[in-house]
Amino acid sequence: MWQLRTGAAQPTVDSPVAETGNIAVTAIETVTNTPVHTAPPPEAAPALAPSARASRSNEYAGDEPPAWLDEEIPLPDLLPLQDEMDDINLPGKVPAPSRETRIAALDWNQLQAEVAACRACDLCKTRSNTVFGVGDVQADWLIVGEAPGADEDQQGEPFVGQAGKLLDNMLKALDLQRGQGVFIANVLKCRPPQNRDPNPFETAQCEPYLLRQIELIKPKIIVAVGRIAAQSLLKSDAKIGSLRGKVHSYHGVPLIITYHPAYLLRNQPDKAKAWQDLCLARATHRSLG
Ligand code: URA
Repeated sequence: MWQLRTGAAQPTVDSPVAETGNIAVTAIETVTNTPVHTAPPPEAAPALAPSARASRSNEYAGDEPPAWLDEEIPLPDLLPLQDEMDDINLPGKVPAPSRETRIAALDWNQLQAEVAACRACDLCKTRSNTVFGVGDVQADWLIVGEAPGADEDQQGEPFVGQAGKLLDNMLKALDLQRGQGVFIANVLKCRPPQNRDPNPFETAQCEPYLLRQIELIKPKIIVAVGRIAAQSLLKSDAKIGSLRGKVHSYHGVPLIITYHPAYLLRNQPDKAKAWQDLCLARATHRSLG
């Protein structure tokens, strides 16, 4: 039987004492015939580095310092970062949705705010403004260009330079105008420095925005203007000449390819081909009722 006595331990011949901290545990025999248990030896403390033991020898006179005193645990390394915690599949924990899934659930205002605050690629470091797009949010027609240029980056609106004027004239020929029956957007929402071509990472980061715009606008037809827009939407490296003159599909929406207005400004004879493309687009739109 164990009896606990607090205070200084008084070992006797009959009563061996085990010391654990300040508590002396003394084994004594009782009137019953139950066997006397001798106190177990104190649990062996893990060895401490000699230097640690030495430095504590006065502080803890007589006591063996517990091993955890010397354990220096770098706490931040042990705790998972928030991102890592989001990846841990604990039972009953709903995993965080992917970026694409989250964007695909945004409404129009949320999507605009998301684009305005986007930092998904390095273009955010050099842009002045994001260029979300402009026009009728219930448009039948969606025009998709490449990326904002210098003027668009400054004004936050697509196709505002000379190329934009020509695009407006092309739309007028279809009885459309900016803001009425048509929405104008780009593959990229931010200007690449020096108007260089978008890289595949930038295009991939921006694509969920365009996809969500399409889901919300529900256009009947998409016209991609220029090689970059055409190749990006079709995930093709074919030349624009071979992509024109056909009705493609982008996520189920008929897609027509034509030349970029900036290219047409430099190559006037190809305007006739662009007009053919617009006529194909109009016929396709009409055929959809
Ligand atoms: N070129 C494009 O492709 N888009 C713009 O918004 C401006 C120029």
